Amino acid sequence: MQRTLTGPVELETIVSLAKRRGFVFQSSEIYGGLGSVWDYGPLGVEMKRNVKDAWWRAMVRERDDIVGIDAAILMDPRVWVASGHVAGFTDPLVECDKCHRRFRQDAVPSASGVTEDESPVGPVSALVSGLSGQVAQELRNRLEAHARSLGKRRVTAVDYGDAGDYPPGTVPCPQGDGGFLGEPRQFNLMFKTFMGPVEDDAARIYLRPETAQGIFVNYENVQTTTRRKLPFGVAQIGKSFRNEITPGNFIFRTREFEQMEMEYFCPPDQADRWFDHWVEFSMNFFKRYGIRAANLRTRVHTDDERPHYAKAALDVEYNFSFGWAELETINNRADYDLSNHEKHSGRDLKYFDEETKAKFLPYVVEPAMGADRTMLAILVDAYDEEPGEKESRVVMRLHPDIAPITVAVLPLSRNERLMPTARRVHEAVRPHFNSQFDDTQSIGRRYRRQDEVGTPLCVTVDFDTVEKDQAVTIRDRDTMEQVRVPIDGLVAALRDRLDVIRKRVAG
Ligand code: ATP
Repeated sequence: MQRTLTGPVELETIVSLAKRRGFVFQSSEIYGGLGSVWDYGPLGVEMKRNVKDAWWRAMVRERDDIVGIDAAILMDPRVWVASGHVAGFTDPLVECDKCHRRFRQDAVPSASGVTEDESPVGPVSALVSGLSGQVAQELRNRLEAHARSLGKRRVTAVDYGDAGDYPPGTVPCPQGDGGFLGEPRQFNLMFKTFMGPVEDDAARIYLRPETAQGIFVNYENVQTTTRRKLPFGVAQIGKSFRNEITPGNFIFRTREFEQMEMEYFCPPDQADRWFDHWVEFSMNFFKRYGIRAANLRTRVHTDDERPHYAKAALDVEYNFSFGWAELETINNRADYDLSNHEKHSGRDLKYFDEETKAKFLPYVVEPAMGADRTMLAILVDAYDEEPGEKESRVVMRLHPDIAPITVAVLPLSRNERLMPTARRVHEAVRPHFNSQFDDTQSIGRRYRRQDEVGTPLCVTVDFDTVEKDQAVTIRDRDTMEQVRVPIDGLVAALRDRLDVIRKRVAG
């Protein structure tokens, strides 16, 4: 729907609203907060649950070809050897030889990069010019040694440019502590822990870095117990963990997050067709739940960035204030996972086609979406501000199926004559909608509070309700239009109005 506000809203605005209204809090806040880890508050938990339910509905309940599972976070560590994560799920890191902090190589040195604690890193030339005499001399010595090794007489820091192709040991630590960054080393992003009482290598297991493998190792169980024929899919929603080096942008990139993944098993010659299908499905999903088409785009991966397991890969991106960024990846994983699990487990995972009598490993097309990122995009996209005479009105134009509260029941005032009827109205509404009863502050303020958290409809109980007509007022969040309806027909009237808002938001 049309918004008053144009352009992407700043993340800060959403972070502050999320905190103020109880959507998202920083983890362990009373201890100063654990970096880039977030807790979902009373409204956030409802909204995120709605996001996940919407996905599950579209993916599993509204289709005949997909079933769900819920696999454990802890898995046999050999799964991660077979999947390639033990060997290859890494980022190159450089470590300071003094403070031993680690930085992602591609973030150092670049003017726009961020370090582990999110302070900006300047270009090499700027770093060098800011060095103390002693460190500058040390750097000069190292540079000259490097120059000699290249057979050159002199290399200056400025020669490196800001592209990151610098000789190890000659880039000063971005912390400015006099140390230098060393050789890049591969750093595995999987969280490790131990299973059982002995903390040795044999007991080492991982927190899953993706939910997908839980599906692949259950492929045979699901296929035989449901007696599915190809093509069919298996969907899962759950937590994943990645020891990201540079998390940030609020809940966009965190170390603990939730994924909504679906693995679609099909004959190899159908994979391209299903790839196109899942791209279209995903775009429709985002639009259906209120993200405006203009803020969405698809981007095919370049050869360099395509994951090792993928034959084809495409991101669905959202236009955040910090730039276009990935909400979902759609991969054609071919038979990469099943063939590796066959090799490592010794189990025959081939599919037998009863019609053609052919035996083969299915191909897999995977739409992999982040629940937290999707929620962030929906929040950002729903945010609107209407200028008012005294103050502007902040409205979250959330889809009714996503909004944390669907209907708020508000007695006009705290007058005790209103209360029994107001309570009765709430009891009538409660079984049908996620509802809230609010009798604090003035009615105008309560409308504003509900607008700000995206409640589509408010129901107001006033003196006429009690004394005259046994009717209440329904107020629409977006248009602020009010209609009077009898309490008897209230639930049906609310349903109708929610449908109107659903269409408005999705259109
Ligand atoms: P990125 O390139 O942003 O690191 P990715 O390509 O590694 O993400 P995938 O492995 O394709 O991500 O995971 C699928 C989805 O899971 C992503 O599109 C994203 O929505 C979500 N996701 C991945 N990593 C994170 C994270 N650290 N925090 C929050 N969500 C994440």
